[in-house]
Amino acid sequence: DTASWQAADKAHFIHPFTDGASLHKEGTRIITGGEGVWIRDNDDNVLLDGMAGLWCVNAGYGQPKLIEAASEQLKSLAYYNAFFHTAVPSSIELAELLAEVSPAQFKRVYYSNSGSEGNDTVIRLVRHYWDLVGKPERKTLIARNFAYHGSTIGGASLSGMPWMHAQGDLPIPGIVHIEQPHYEALGSGLTREQFGLKAASWLEEKIIEVGPENVAAFIAEPVQGAGGVVVPPSSYWPEIQRICRKYDILLVSDEVICGFGRTGNWWGCQTFGYEPDLMTFAKGVTSGYVPLGGVMVSDRVADVVENGGIFNHGYTYSGHPVACAVGVANVKLLIQEKIVDYVREDAGPYLAEKLATLNDHPLVGYTDGIGLMWAIQIVKDKSTNALFDYDKQVNAICREFARKNGLIIRAIVNDRMIIAPPLVISRAEIDRVVEITRRSLDETLVELQL
Ligand code: PLP
Repeated sequence: DTASWQAADKAHFIHPFTDGASLHKEGTRIITGGEGVWIRDNDDNVLLDGMAGLWCVNAGYGQPKLIEAASEQLKSLAYYNAFFHTAVPSSIELAELLAEVSPAQFKRVYYSNSGSEGNDTVIRLVRHYWDLVGKPERKTLIARNFAYHGSTIGGASLSGMPWMHAQGDLPIPGIVHIEQPHYEALGSGLTREQFGLKAASWLEEKIIEVGPENVAAFIAEPVQGAGGVVVPPSSYWPEIQRICRKYDILLVSDEVICGFGRTGNWWGCQTFGYEPDLMTFAKGVTSGYVPLGGVMVSDRVADVVENGGIFNHGYTYSGHPVACAVGVANVKLLIQEKIVDYVREDAGPYLAEKLATLNDHPLVGYTDGIGLMWAIQIVKDKSTNALFDYDKQVNAICREFARKNGLIIRAIVNDRMIIAPPLVISRAEIDRVVEITRRSLDETLVELQL
């Protein structure tokens, strides 16, 4: 029963990104089932998963084709490695499919098991590339404040979360950060488009400060995810692209959340109109059914690295047969069921329209998002968009009401509520998300005695 799972959990399991004391006071929620956009707990309560797990279950839970692909691969060959001179068919087939759904400059993939490892691979790969082309001094990577690029030493260093850097003396040397393109927070007095250009100019300033001859790459998420679903003005990315080209700096798109349809195209860089040299991915490649990640490597970089001797880097599970078999089934499903088109043309615009109806709520400043990744900005004062004191944790109060009402949404930095459901969510299910969110905002208002 649930109590004994909770007792064993408390005794033996340290949870990631969790305050253990408060977790075990409340008791861990034990999740046992999933179907479509719904999950079920050990006591048979059903919840609509408005976060697709951790923004990853793009195809929804319980897809028979993904389950069969894993089980068939387990039966025929559960493991073999890709080191040295071997590969398994599923890893080659997935590489071919990934090239098919990627922008033209990407024909080759380097596999990892997670987004964090993908971004660690990026750090080593870009430095290796510059070594091979005779510019070994190009070592610095520029990233952005409040980015999330993972939890490994490299991933957490690239991330721009001060509370992560505070633990373990991060970032490591050679990684610096610039401000994010957050119009509502930083764009006062400018139009959105003017602000986009200004935010991009912070990259140029940083390049000049570090010295262009020392800069290896700029890395960013198309839309910052864990940093609050901050959608940049449309002028931002083309200007970033221009600056990277001007100083010959590699542009890395962290597509771990945005990849595989979330913004309404296969990749976020396609939604925002830029051409990266590298793209990291994870999550949606298998819809989270099994761990898999990697880096799409453009011809510019791959041609050098493939002809540059051994790149001394790799993981026991790089190109794992089962993960890749599920990846193949997942990408085929997204193609066959036209799920990416559905996000762009139907579900995304419908969610946008429905969320806009919340704008009249006293606690809602505005909504921000694209495709099926959205933020609701909670504010204390609608006329100025002033935020509540951080200690009040108003978004966490609202998240808990939502959960009691049967919906999982996430509370994130700067008092934002996040909604990023499986991409297969129906219109009726979107209605339910918005209806529960409104009810939970109302209950939050009462709780705050406003
Ligand atoms: N990059 C982005 C944009 C992410 O959102 C995440 C995880 O949320 C990561 C990287 C790290 O991926 P993983 O948790 O698979 O290591």
